[in-house]
Amino acid sequence: MCLICDRIGMIKRGENPYFVRELETGYVVLGDHQRFYGYTLFLYKHHEGKTELFHLAPAERARFLEEMTLVAQAVARAFQAEKMNYELLGMGDAHLHWHLFPRRAGDIEQYGNGGKGPVWWYPMEKMYAGEYRPSAGELADMKQKLWTELDRVFGPADTGTDKS
Ligand SMILES: [Zn+2]
Repeated sequence: MCLICDRIGMIKRGENPYFVRELETGYVVLGDHQRFYGYTLFLYKHHEGKTELFHLAPAERARFLEEMTLVAQAVARAFQAEKMNYELLGMGDAHLHWHLFPRRAGDIEQYGNGGKGPVWWYPMEKMYAGEYRPSAGELADMKQKLWTELDRVFGPADTGTDKS
């Protein structure tokens, strides 16, 4: 079983506190740890046989990429990013999922190339430290901010999605 599929199952059961919004091709969720404030993921809806972008039919791929781009725009506005980072890796779980990181000067301290580089050059134990897990109140605040900006770029959500 795959962690992303597990999380999508939780969304469908209404049990994922990080879930923000369902789009046509995927789900918008906030990251479990917020060392990079506003860290958001966009999870593709399917897994089996669709673990590379080139496995997707062109129209589906175009839609997935367009939605990811607009999610990133909403994240940038909601959390005042200086620069967005977009990452599709898949070495933990092959399930297609975008890591969308709002970046700010100095945010990896002096790690990487004198403080410049991908978030993954920041130590894993610091990035995933317990102190960066948002409280229920912080999570609610972040979801509201992101929800507002997703409404601006996508229009108001259809009924049936979880706004809580
Ligand atoms: Zn999966």
